[in-house]
Amino acid sequence: MKTLKLLFVTACVFLLSCNKSNEVEVMPCCPTCSILFQPYDSVSYQEAQRLAQTFGDQLSSLLGDINVREVSVLPVKLLTNQQLNSTNTRYRAEKILKYQNDIAKDMIKDEHFDVIIGLTSKDISTSLHNIDDYGIQGLSYIGKNNCVVSTFRIKNKKDVWKLVAHEFCHGYFYTQMRHCPADDPTCIMRDGHGKPNWKKRTKICNKCLGRQ
Ligand SMILES: [Zn+2]
Ligand SMILES: [Zn+2]
Repeated sequence: MKTLKLLFVTACVFLLSCNKSNEVEVMPCCPTCSILFQPYDSVSYQEAQRLAQTFGDQLSSLLGDINVREVSVLPVKLLTNQQLNSTNTRYRAEKILKYQNDIAKDMIKDEHFDVIIGLTSKDISTSLHNIDDYGIQGLSYIGKNNCVVSTFRIKNKKDVWKLVAHEFCHGYFYTQMRHCPADDPTCIMRDGHGKPNWKKRTKICNKCLGRQ
């Protein structure tokens, strides 16, 4: 199988919180981390490689000590009608996550990959804010190691790695990495409320990292 293997090795520690009201650990789902990227449709293998490289390069500066063992890019796959919404206008994010879960579960089990991140340029949606089919940029479930990111709504493609990091943190950490409790406009984990300004977001703030 044609895969790109990029190695990133840094020291591994838990990121500890000393929250004022109660102590909360920012707990990764696994002690080290190997990440699979799954490009879809018009996202080329080379484009996914470049994004994986940028994302891998940025992770240490975003999260401090994180042990990323390997980042691999899978061959491009096509989304199918099975992942479409009921009006065939968008792909349902949760259906893509289910699909990814099926294609990656053997690799996760046998080859010890920890997180899979899907990349699509198509519009994706889920049920949110009392709207049945709400367009979103990405979806992951807290601590579930499975994320999907859509570039469809991102104006500047240079910011895509930030969205990948946002969804990765939701999926990789069991606790704490929900949306930025400080609502810091420079924090990648801030809730965009439908209109995220990625340009200003360059870090993950100390509150999100449990250092404040
Ligand atoms: Zn989020
Ligand atoms: Zn934050």
